[in-house]
Amino acid sequence: MIAEAIKTKSPSRSYTSTRNACKLCAPFGACIVFRGISGCIPLIHGSQGCSTYIRRYGISHFREPIDIASSNFTESTAIFGGRDNLELALSNVTRQYKPEAIGVTSTCLSETIGENVPMYIAQYEKDRSEREKNGGSKEPALFYASTPSYRGTHMDGFHEAIYSVVSKLAGTSVASENVEEPKHLNLISGFVSSEDLRELHKILSSFEMPYTLLPDYSESLDGGSWEEYQKLPKGGTPLESIRRMSSAVGTITLGESIPREHDASAWLESNFGVKAARVPMPIGIENTDAFFSQLTEFTGRPISQKWMDVRGRLIDAYIDGHKYCFGKKAIVYGEEDFVLAICSFLSELGIEPVLVATGAVSDSFKSRILSILKKNRSEPLVMDDADFVTMLEKAKDLSPDFVMGSSKGFYLAKNLEIPLIRCGFPIHDRMGGHRILHLGYRGTLNLFDLVCNTLMQIKQSSSKIGYTYI
Ligand code: SF4
Repeated sequence: MIAEAIKTKSPSRSYTSTRNACKLCAPFGACIVFRGISGCIPLIHGSQGCSTYIRRYGISHFREPIDIASSNFTESTAIFGGRDNLELALSNVTRQYKPEAIGVTSTCLSETIGENVPMYIAQYEKDRSEREKNGGSKEPALFYASTPSYRGTHMDGFHEAIYSVVSKLAGTSVASENVEEPKHLNLISGFVSSEDLRELHKILSSFEMPYTLLPDYSESLDGGSWEEYQKLPKGGTPLESIRRMSSAVGTITLGESIPREHDASAWLESNFGVKAARVPMPIGIENTDAFFSQLTEFTGRPISQKWMDVRGRLIDAYIDGHKYCFGKKAIVYGEEDFVLAICSFLSELGIEPVLVATGAVSDSFKSRILSILKKNRSEPLVMDDADFVTMLEKAKDLSPDFVMGSSKGFYLAKNLEIPLIRCGFPIHDRMGGHRILHLGYRGTLNLFDLVCNTLMQIKQSSSKIGYTYI
């Protein structure tokens, strides 16, 4: 994380760098999106170290092979530019993988030397259309996400990649010009687990309207075992579905912190009149109700009894667990929208987040957290642009009962000698991080059990008597 090491902080502080940042590198988020598109392979325009870091980081969370190509910058490329490397990489990847699409991302290095990647790609596409006219085979669609890590987090890369794919493909379907399409819906999911994506499929299917879920790495980053290595695992959002997003009845985006210039739903609305709705991540009853209401509004169909039954069980569980949860204190950190949703969920349980942090730089994060936690007995400490060392310094005086977030908070929890409830991304020190269910009524129920059982475990193990009944 070169970008983090050189980042200068306020001179009044006794240190000059971010220490263990509460975020990941921007091309990483873009690569996850590209792996969630059918037949698409990510290609990093930069050094091999960047692609190795991203590959390794993704593999240890998803426990799946993740091929990520690289244009392989060397010392001379860093001085003279990487256009030839990029063109060679595009043609090598096309030949070896035969992908339907290639998602190119920039890196700190290629951005710093001012590579004009959009121009390189435009020229490459122009040249290849000549090749195709002259009898060459059809070549893959090309997407480009500008992802300098010194300017954003993995979530910025994630949103930028979605925007680049939608703005390139939507409205380009040839089929839609001739065939009357059934009504259909778009859902842009945010950075969630593979299990969450499978849950979203179940929820969307229950509304009986065709849909496009973007991205969809529920299979491509969580598949079965293979007899032979698959260069492009099955699964992912089909390109044709993305092309038809322009004629949907509406687009729901999970998460409210996406900058407008990277908001694909806003782009679809202004270019094709597709209604856009942003809802909070559906974690907790209030947020999940908002998501289901929006689905009802766009589809015109009621919420099925099946989900109402799960909702009923969730409320029952809240009542059962209230005595273990009420008044407990938590530290919550991670991606902005995820943290907002977790705080809303904890607040429903009567748990008070005392330190809330995100690695993103955000003007609105604090006010939104305070609005969600207005019932807290004391105002929580809210940090954006946060790192884990600073969080530990601040947390020592707050007497938290547990920490909730990714594996990156392990040392924070260890130093505070309190449990870490692992959720979100990345989970590198446990199995099944990508199978944690967070979303919807069932995901909330799962998180509720994790929280409640952790609090019961604390009570049990701190008792000298050794209760088996708590
Ligand atoms: S893109 Fe930047 S932050 Fe990410 S791995 Fe490369 S140098 Fe590090």
